[in-house]
Amino acid sequence: MTRSLSETVPGFMRQAIRFLLPVDCTVCGLPLTDDPIPYFCASCWGSISSMTHSCCARCDRPFASPIATAYSPDHVCQPCMERPPSYTRAWTLYPYLPPLQNAICLFKYKGKVSLASPLARLMIDRLPPLDSVDLIMPVPLHRQRLREREFNQSLLLADRIGRHLDTPVSFTNLIRIAPSPAQTTLSRRGRLKNLRGAFSLRHPGSIAGKRILLIDDVFTTGTTVNECAKTLRKAGSGDVIVLTLGRTMDAGTVPDRILAQQTDQTLELLGG
Ligand SMILES: [Zn+2]
Ligand SMILES: [Zn+2]
Repeated sequence: MTRSLSETVPGFMRQAIRFLLPVDCTVCGLPLTDDPIPYFCASCWGSISSMTHSCCARCDRPFASPIATAYSPDHVCQPCMERPPSYTRAWTLYPYLPPLQNAICLFKYKGKVSLASPLARLMIDRLPPLDSVDLIMPVPLHRQRLREREFNQSLLLADRIGRHLDTPVSFTNLIRIAPSPAQTTLSRRGRLKNLRGAFSLRHPGSIAGKRILLIDDVFTTGTTVNECAKTLRKAGSGDVIVLTLGRTMDAGTVPDRILAQQTDQTLELLGG
């Protein structure tokens, strides 16, 4: 039987331990005892639930109503119909909401790399049918961002998924050549402009004909993974399948007609 910290350790020492080690759940604040996931109690971690919406068969965008896919499970959303993405299929496994959001923020922005394995485990638990992929690639960071953050969060996830699928992970070929402000501070229009031509391949010949699984932590508008996929396809890769742990939900559940208006604006912007 495990007794909680407060029962076994005098007050001043508890203060010292709390200072050095995370002992309370980040979400509910209850003291952590033998919980297997760092920073989260088993109950909060267990409340992370996967995407249950009916979704676009191409980009995984949740539809406002389940009717959209009730009679045609392969229904794609209007933006995908009008301007098909460069990837074949995106799988976005969990809504990017607390407590998953807390976990990804701690992992990515606070350097809590001990969360890499539990987060990768969430992805492995919900892996879609991935017909034989030849190669796994994480979405790369620009070297300047990599220096600041010291690790690429997507590579840490990709590495664990690669081991699970027994598939090689390539993390030096696809590179980000354009530095950029954090995507989260940009509008959709800004993101598109910011990312055009942002990625390149060091050895384009080595991916010819290969089916690639592209991994990122969060799918927001999809522009990042789409630009990566475009770069890979241009170099002659086979299908590019996208897999992300989270998906932001704000833009995801608006009706198709509003999305269609947004697409019109995007087409205008692109001169289409
Ligand atoms: Zn908790
Ligand atoms: Zn779509």
